[in-house]
Amino acid sequence: MIHQDLHIHTVFSTGDSSVVPGQTLELIASVGHAEVVGISDHIEYLRGSVFGDYAEAVGDRGFRLGAEIVHVEDVDFALSLPLEYRVFHCYDEDECYTSAERMVDSGKPLIIAHPMALGTDLGRLPEECYVEINNRYVWRGDWRSYFTPWLERFDFIYSSDAHQPHWLNQNVARYVASQLGIRETLIFGNKERKSVA
Ligand SMILES: [Zn+2]
Ligand SMILES: [Zn+2]
Repeated sequence: MIHQDLHIHTVFSTGDSSVVPGQTLELIASVGHAEVVGISDHIEYLRGSVFGDYAEAVGDRGFRLGAEIVHVEDVDFALSLPLEYRVFHCYDEDECYTSAERMVDSGKPLIIAHPMALGTDLGRLPEECYVEINNRYVWRGDWRSYFTPWLERFDFIYSSDAHQPHWLNQNVARYVASQLGIRETLIFGNKERKSVA
């Protein structure tokens, strides 16, 4: 079983056309593909009263409560919410790196989403960030040259970034990580289970 999967979308990401109606919290709970499951729906769809419903539904199933921030304009909103962790699109822009610092300073884990696909300069990020090896995106570029310079600087996690039930896996991410000699960091795992291969 997968140890941890903290980047998963559900039908709460209503405006994302990749999400299918079957991608419900119930389905994810039933499949049980990972020991620790975190839900990280797109924050722009969680505004207003939706967030309360979302937080309750996620918490009821014992999942970790996260959200993915695509637009840097939503960082203040994200900081105002009782999220257990945040997933962030860090584009190669000053404002994004500054926002990453602010979110790290909040004390909650910050996952840098599919950085190679966004052109994120990992050298400009605080080393407290968790860098994601994303199962949907990592094969789309030269992951060996992109990640190799930073293997000592960061802790890495693997994510499915599932929008559909059959995306609930991390097979490509785990292959890449093994090729790079990366060891997985369990953000919400027990201390002694940190860095499980
Ligand atoms: Zn994303
Ligand atoms: Zn995502």
